[in-house]
This record gives sequence, structure tokens and C-alpha cells, in this order.
Amino acid sequence: MMDALAVRPRHSEIAVVVPVYNEADNIELLVARLVPVLERVAKSFHVVFVDDGSRDATLDVLRRVHAADARMTAVSFSRNFGKEIAIAAGLDHADADAVVIMDADLQHPPEVIEAFIAKWREGYKNVFGQRTDREADSPLRRMFAKRFYDLFSLFGETPLPEGAGDFRLLDHTAVEALRAMPERARFSKGLYAWIGFKGIGVPFEVAERAAGTSKFSYRKLTRFALDGLMSFSTLPLMVWTYVGTIISVFALCMAIYFVGQTMIYGVDVPGFASTIVSIMFLGGVQLLSLGVLGEYIGRIFAEVKRRPLYLVGERIGAPADLADDPLPPRQRSRMGV
Ligand code: UDP
Ligand code: MG
Repeated sequence: MMDALAVRPRHSEIAVVVPVYNEADNIELLVARLVPVLERVAKSFHVVFVDDGSRDATLDVLRRVHAADARMTAVSFSRNFGKEIAIAAGLDHADADAVVIMDADLQHPPEVIEAFIAKWREGYKNVFGQRTDREADSPLRRMFAKRFYDLFSLFGETPLPEGAGDFRLLDHTAVEALRAMPERARFSKGLYAWIGFKGIGVPFEVAERAAGTSKFSYRKLTRFALDGLMSFSTLPLMVWTYVGTIISVFALCMAIYFVGQTMIYGVDVPGFASTIVSIMFLGGVQLLSLGVLGEYIGRIFAEVKRRPLYLVGERIGAPADLADDPLPPRQRSRMGV
């Protein structure tokens, strides 16, 4: 370990964090395009790949890439923890004045980093890539994405800049702010917006995936969307107060009406259908609101367990481990080898 520490690429000007999950065919393509850009524009740099529990040859490729160029380092998780957590781990291991986050599949063109760095040198601390279109996504996914962002802008408590995603450059002050956030349910897009700092968008065109297919199933995307909405809005919790109030007022009016009706016309037996309908309706509303409570309580449960955010199985090229920095709880509770 000491030897490894001695050769670890210490503090660089730029670090690039790349989450990878079954990307064996893309890594070398990415490195071939990324390194020339960084050599041209950065004074010094290193790349931190975060292998998110890949089951293909990704880890072997990362070892090979590191053997060829020591500036390529990697952290490998013990299993798949998801892209958001992989990004968090990358930020924990990137020791640089500014950190670029990008996908491994070349959908984020490395050449755009030059513009990111230029903006950063002008003094911006949160430089985000803004996709000019979503042509690379399927129409169904585009539709869901649009619905999600509409909902988020309606209910979310943090406005998200249009078209901004994970492809971005963060000054080390912004990186420290993100590293200080202990939450397990990490909706990065919301977190980037929440931390603030002087930000600016750089438009870019999303390219087609170089090899393989998207690692996000609709199931994963749904979870992600729910995480996003629920960690940035308490409206789903509060809305039941209003629904309950409206239904109670309505029920009270009905009661008064029925009392009046009974007094004027006497007892009336029919009304079976309306009884069943109102019981079912109220039952449905109650189950729905319990479900919403359950979603939030489940998330609270996940947070209070205070499990480490991720477990490291292997480090390649000993990327800086900033876990010992005088930083907040998540850092202290982190584990690894
Ligand atoms: N990724 C990851 N963990 C996952 C899913 C994806 O680290 O569980 C990585 C993936 O290897 C890629 C990036 O996140 O580098 C974006 O994934 P993908 O291209 O599949 O997403 P899309 O472009 O469809 O949004
Ligand atoms: Mg992609």
C-alpha cells in the first residue's frame, strides 16, 4: 500500500471522473479521445474510472489502461451501486483543482471539456454541459423525461437548468460541497443545482453511444425519477392534508344534506351504490396516501441505517482517497480496502 501511495497521481489541475458499468468496449475508445484533449488544455491531469460492479471485462481493461498510462486510475466497487453512487465515489477519489464528470460511452464528447476548462479559468465553478437535443434517446424515453422535468419544475424545490446533466466541470470548492452531502438517495442533477456556485451552461450535442446499449432500464429510470422527486420535494406528503380537508368538507355537506332530506321526506333506504362508491373511493385515497408515506419512510429508513455509500473491492493505480480529510459524516462512515 505504501508503494502504491508513493506513485499515486497526486493533486492534479484536472481530474476526470468516469462511472463505468459493463463498458469494456468503450473505455479504450474514450481514453484515445480524452487524453489528447487533456494533454492540450490541462497543466496536469488524472482520470478516475469508477467500475460500478461490472460483470464483463471492464476491470481487465482498466488494469491494462492503467499499465499503459499511470494517470488512468480506477476504483472498483464490490457490486453495482448505481451511477449516482459511482459519481460520488469518483468525487471522493479525485484530487484536483477541478473535476470533470462524464459518461464512458462517448455520448459526452471529450472535446467539449476544452470549453468547460476555459469557462472555469474565467472563474465559473459549476460549468455544466447543456444538451441541445435528446435525439439519441428513444421517443418513449424522451416522453418520460419530459414528463419528469415538467413534474420536477412544478413540485421540486430546486429549479434545474434546462438540459443539464452529469456532464460537467466542478471547481474543487463545489466538489467539497457535494462530498459533504451525506444522503444515500443521490439525485445528482438536483444536488448540482442545490449547491449553487457561479454556474454557466456550455451547449453540446449528445452523440450516439459508441458501443453497447444504455445501462438504464425503464425500471431503473422510474426509481431514479422517484428518488429525484422525493428527495427534492415534500409536496407528495403535504398534498394529503388538502385532499383530506376537501373530502371531509364534502362529507360534512353530504351529512347535512341527508339529515335535511330525512327530516323532510322520512327515512329512505336506497343509496347502496353511493355507499359502496364512497367507501371504495376513500379506501383508495387512504391506501394511496399510505403508499406515499411508505415511500418517504423507506427513504428515511435507508438514510438512518447509515450504511457506507459504497464498498470498494479494488483500487487500481491508487487514486487519491480523500476519506481521511477532515470532512463530514459520510466520509467518516465510509469503508473500503
Ligand atoms: N453507469 C454506471 N452504473 C449503472 C449504470 C450506468 O456507472 O448502474 C454508467 C455507464 O457505464 C455510463 C454512464 O453511467 O458510463 C451512463 O450510462 P448510460 O450510457 O447507460 O446511460 P444513458 O446514456 O442511457 O443515460
Ligand atoms: Mg449513454
